[in-house]
Amino acid sequence: ALALGTAACSDTRSSDSKSGSSAESTNASDQLVGISMPTKSLERWNRDGAHLQELLDKQGYKTDLQYADNKVGDQISQIENMVNKGAKILVVASIDGSALAPTLDKAHAKGVKVIAYDRLIRDTESVDFYATFDNYKVGKMQGEYLVKALGLDQGKTGINFEPFAGSPDDNNASFFFAGAWDVLNPYVEKGALVVPSGKAPKTNDQWQSIGIKEWSLKSAQDEMQTRLNTFYKDKKVQAVLSPNDSIALGITQALVAAGYQAGPEYPQLTGQDADEANVKNIIAGLQSMTVWKDTRTLGEVVAKMVDEVAQGKDVTVNDKETYDNGKKVVPAYLIDPVTITKENINEKLVDSGFYSKSDLGL
Ligand code: BGC
Repeated sequence: ALALGTAACSDTRSSDSKSGSSAESTNASDQLVGISMPTKSLERWNRDGAHLQELLDKQGYKTDLQYADNKVGDQISQIENMVNKGAKILVVASIDGSALAPTLDKAHAKGVKVIAYDRLIRDTESVDFYATFDNYKVGKMQGEYLVKALGLDQGKTGINFEPFAGSPDDNNASFFFAGAWDVLNPYVEKGALVVPSGKAPKTNDQWQSIGIKEWSLKSAQDEMQTRLNTFYKDKKVQAVLSPNDSIALGITQALVAAGYQAGPEYPQLTGQDADEANVKNIIAGLQSMTVWKDTRTLGEVVAKMVDEVAQGKDVTVNDKETYDNGKKVVPAYLIDPVTITKENINEKLVDSGFYSKSDLGL
């Protein structure tokens, strides 16, 4: 049975998570769980995969963990392989939220249960549960951070600002942008935030126009460089909305290459994931904040879901209305994200054991 590691999840969970008590219960060791992750190129997915595998191993499950190199075709064949090997439960962090429907429909027809991990899988009935962080809130926290840091709430105005959004094929990216834009767009509309590139979506649903495909550091760097070269010949950028840390790293590289240095003139720059390189940049004054999603908690939530599914128990969720995938509203468990700035790195990331001081060069 699963030991609950975090208070964050204890609210709606039943304390009776012991295996083997019900008539339908199955021996965990009989069960193969397929874990399909999108890519190794981002630090977080490596942590996510390894951690979930470790938890499931401890619970006595067999696991098949695969990474798909951000290629949809690879992810599809890896999932098909898992099912062929006899996996009865799949945990999938999708690359393209809309591309897996036929594959999962086939699996579902064979009685396989599907848990969407971190990213919603769209346009199919064949996703049973979803575990994630509150994605809208992630964006809202980025927006609220900028409002305060820039003094927008104190009436500051005329601030040069550039927004970025996440990968156009990732369902999460629309939530991140909507959360941020609901906070920031009113300031754009009244001219408190000025966007010299003109790349400011008029409405939330136009976010894909500024989306960075595959969350690529390099594409973000190129895009920021182009905006700086074209629209900032005679001015300085003062704030950048970056939806995550890989994009923030690319933006930072472009800024540094253009001569921006840490200090009061360095733009306010957001992020997400608390990746090691970004936390180091926060310490160095090259990024302002990141939204931390403790992947250990997500792993625990999903490991518990797997156990409940395998035992035929009710699965613990805390949201039954937000995540409509186009075919059904997927019952979800949402976890709260945390804002990280220079001030709370020690308290949040080091004291919790997410990083050691030496990881961060402290
Ligand atoms: C995840 C983020 C991550 C991004 C890029 C999103 O779906 O929620 O944590 O930064 O993908 O991998």
